[in-house]
Amino acid sequence: MVDYDVIVAGGGLTGTIAAQSIAHYSNQNLKILSIDRNSEIFPGRKSLSGWTCGDACSKEAVDFMTERIKVQWTRPEIEHDVKGVMAFSPDKETTIPFDGEGYMLNRQKLPEIQNQRAKKMGVEFDFEINLTGLIYDEQQVVGVQGIDNKTKQPYKKTAKIVVDATGVTSMLRNTLKNSTKVEKRIDRRDLESTGRYIMYFEPQTKDLTEFDPDYCIIHLDQDIAPGGYGWVFPKGEKKVNIGLGVEKTLLEKRNNRLGKKDNVQSLMEEYLHRNPVIKNAKLSQDPEDINNNSGIFQVSVRRQNDCMISGG
Ligand SMILES: Cc1cc2nc3c(=O)[nH]c(=O)nc-3n(C[C@H](O)[C@H](O)[C@H](O)COP(=O)(O)OP(=O)(O)OC[C@H]3O[C@@H](n4cnc5c(N)ncnc54)[C@H](O)[C@@H]3O)c2cc1C
Repeated sequence: MVDYDVIVAGGGLTGTIAAQSIAHYSNQNLKILSIDRNSEIFPGRKSLSGWTCGDACSKEAVDFMTERIKVQWTRPEIEHDVKGVMAFSPDKETTIPFDGEGYMLNRQKLPEIQNQRAKKMGVEFDFEINLTGLIYDEQQVVGVQGIDNKTKQPYKKTAKIVVDATGVTSMLRNTLKNSTKVEKRIDRRDLESTGRYIMYFEPQTKDLTEFDPDYCIIHLDQDIAPGGYGWVFPKGEKKVNIGLGVEKTLLEKRNNRLGKKDNVQSLMEEYLHRNPVIKNAKLSQDPEDINNNSGIFQVSVRRQNDCMISGG
């Protein structure tokens, strides 16, 4: 006997989508448990500094989820509409438009609302559980284990299937024992160190290459964001998600070339202050941003894993 049919480990973007989709396609007949290390009031938080993300997603992805996997993202978790993405070369002589509408999400609100929907579909939740590994029966994964942060006691739950949705730094995938096909670690060079602010500001001038309420802007520039890019994504006429990502070895090369000692934080500051439109910027104090207005986190910028399945 197992405790659950399915355990979804991690309740971020992926976990909330997986739990709801499985509940839908099983006609709510499966016993599903969602486990996350956050407390119930901060579901899906990546780290103590929040739900660090650029917050942008394509309408195509949202439509796909609505139609094909029966998971809906609506308002208020969708905060602002955009018409597309514009990428600019360093001298801005070259523009690469990525057509297609999209949305700016409120990442703090999103898991809260998604979990409410999952609960209505019968999904159960365990919060404040720090998962440390998988449980095996010979070659089969049969559950998860960790520590219950509320009681400081060991935690174990079994299931027919475990979905690892604990994100880029997964402790579960990293230690997976029953597969030679699943890539367990992401190469350091495929991980960008990224950070961003969510801010209100007073527009100083009109320059659609630096801020556009209707388009997500990407700046490609090896001095500003070595090995990555800077972004200025609108969340309203006077609200922005502004940030950048860098690749560590290329940042070192760039620093040596320019005789500087920058890190992600100092590059973010510089990128914000050089923007001619965004002036008198203040971190958003909106209740749904207040725990999420400034943060740094890793992001994988590589292809998808070829194999994402092993026994159990
Ligand atoms: C600065 C930045 C900008 C980005 N911009 C964009 C963008 O504009 N558009 C876009 O599509 N993507 C963007 N991304 C990437 C996007 O945020 C991630 O792809 C997405 O969050 C991944 O979702 P996930 O559910 O896999 O992981 P996460 O969102 O990280 O969720 C993982 C969940 O698992 C929990 N967890 C982790 N480990 C454990 C454990 N051991 N035990 C229990 N729980 C655990 C975490 O607390 C969290 O709740 C950006 C990322 C960053 C950092």
